[in-house]
Amino acid sequence: MPSLVFLRLSRSRALRLFLVSILLPSVSIFGVSLSSAQATTNTKSEVAVIKPHQLKPQSIFSAMNLSTNKADSTWVVVNKRRPLVPINYVPKDLVLPKLVAGNTNPHGMRLRQDAAEALTKMAVTMKSAKAGLLVLQSGYRSYATQVYVHDHMVSKFGLSKGESYAARPGYSEHQTGLAGDLAAVGQGCIALTCFANTKAAIWLAANSWQFGFILRYPRFSHPVTGYDYEPWHFRFVGVHLATKMHFSGVNTLEQEFGLPHAPSY
Ligand SMILES: [Zn+2]
Repeated sequence: MPSLVFLRLSRSRALRLFLVSILLPSVSIFGVSLSSAQATTNTKSEVAVIKPHQLKPQSIFSAMNLSTNKADSTWVVVNKRRPLVPINYVPKDLVLPKLVAGNTNPHGMRLRQDAAEALTKMAVTMKSAKAGLLVLQSGYRSYATQVYVHDHMVSKFGLSKGESYAARPGYSEHQTGLAGDLAAVGQGCIALTCFANTKAAIWLAANSWQFGFILRYPRFSHPVTGYDYEPWHFRFVGVHLATKMHFSGVNTLEQEFGLPHAPSY
């Protein structure tokens, strides 16, 4: 129930963002992003006069001190043309997300702290909305794990098909600790396209932005992201960016940041 969701988020950045975007229609979500940075770089009055067309993504990077290149940035963009640097990067703040009672993290998967906390909030709200018990099917995967997964898939299916299932080591978003493959107890279709038709996936696709997640590989985005539709793979980018993308309709990080498309290695 949307109203319940918003009640639960009444103290969160997500709702403040949303309300500001409504109350100040001349200020886009870009402007809202800047408002979050005002404590360090801007005054409130400066935010109010900013026109959306004056804002470029680079100004947001500067304002928020977030990078699309640094491996430990919440906005890092990893794809088939953008490996992690260093390629064997290991996040420093990996934790085991605590989800809701009943299940949830059966494989002991870890995520970075911010992503884990956001996932917990999302799981609790999803349960309240009767959309299911969230399961973290996969989270952080190390470079060494990805070597194994990649080699296994390539030896089993050949290079082309194998690499459509498993990213090359250093090129997987899972190595950032910010991506999770999600499922729900008893709803099936784990890591399959049919997951999109489950109650959980429908809820997640509609609501994950409020917790800072985006569906990273949407339908028909292969020419941009290099991956077929993955209704189970969610990427934490923070509430500011997820909200902005939700309202703008831009649904890939490559397009959001004006980065080259990455259909292949
Ligand atoms: Zn995944």
